[in-house]
Amino acid sequence: MSNITVCARFRPLSSKERRDDGHRICIRCIDTETFIFKDEKEEDFTFSFDRVFCEESKQAEVYEFLALPIVRDAVNAINGTIITYGQTGAGKTYSMEGPSVLEVDEEKKGLLPRVVDGIFEHIKSFDEITKYSIKLSMVEIYMEKVRDLFDLSKDNIQIKESKVQGILLSGATEISVSDPSQALQSLSTGIANRAVGETQMNIASSRSHSVYMFTIQTEFLGDKRMKAGKLVLVDLAGSEKVEKTGAEGRVLEEAKMINKSLSALGNVINALTCGSGRANHIPYRDSKLTRILQDALGGNSRTAILCCCSPSPSNASESLSTLRFGGRAKHI
Ligand code: ADP
Ligand code: MG
Repeated sequence: MSNITVCARFRPLSSKERRDDGHRICIRCIDTETFIFKDEKEEDFTFSFDRVFCEESKQAEVYEFLALPIVRDAVNAINGTIITYGQTGAGKTYSMEGPSVLEVDEEKKGLLPRVVDGIFEHIKSFDEITKYSIKLSMVEIYMEKVRDLFDLSKDNIQIKESKVQGILLSGATEISVSDPSQALQSLSTGIANRAVGETQMNIASSRSHSVYMFTIQTEFLGDKRMKAGKLVLVDLAGSEKVEKTGAEGRVLEEAKMINKSLSALGNVINALTCGSGRANHIPYRDSKLTRILQDALGGNSRTAILCCCSPSPSNASESLSTLRFGGRAKHI
């Protein structure tokens, strides 16, 4: 990985948190990068990330800082990954999708609709691009099984690797999108299918990873070769510890799988960020998530992680664990 950006985002207090915790918050921003976090024992922890987005932060700010550089590069055939991490209810999906991917209020639009607009805008602004094609796949990883969100009957997609195209979701539906509104409609269809599938299987959306994969092929003037950039957005399953929910049976199994894939993600990022010089082993094969992200994380690529947190003292221990994940991704 040539480049990793790690940001923290604190959503506003929920009405329940406001009611139960008397409007208290456990985070104080010092500047745009540094903040002090108070845990439940009133101990202070100082964190420095590439950027901290406080409660009043705007969706557009998050997009511009974290996603725009990656979108620009993806159009130039440099792979990129944008990940939202955090406990359930911390603001991952709000950051990724907004209230809905079809949201019309410009302020509230999440990363996905902005990324879609960004891809098309950048392609059109490059005079040198003579031909292009944009394809979209959407899958969900649940209990280490990959399901096609454009065709729920494909419920066990295999991940393969090809010399030319890199990591492939073998047999997964790829929708060619030719303008932003078509891309948004497709995203919205996939999201609706996900809800249908989850209801049928009686699973909560917070227990699966949602993966949005854009493949952007471009042909530049004077260069007859088609180049491809892959841009993958991932709305991760909730990172909360299972003891809190007193889990058993399937819920416990789900939690173990989530924990396993989130640790695999952390391990891969650590191996990539500390692997200067020596050809160290990168454990991509330890989970479906890291395997899918293999070429979007490795090689010549850019990655951004948004660590989503509640600002409430009642969620302090989960928030601290999210921030530590971000800290490890940044520094090791
Ligand atoms: P997650 O996907 O991490 O489980 P959500 O994105 O669903 O969490 O957020 C939980 C709730 O908090 C939702 O009702 C959402 O609308 C709200 N929320 C999250 N982030 C923000 C924000 N930055 N501004 C306003 N409301 C937010
Ligand atoms: Mg969510």
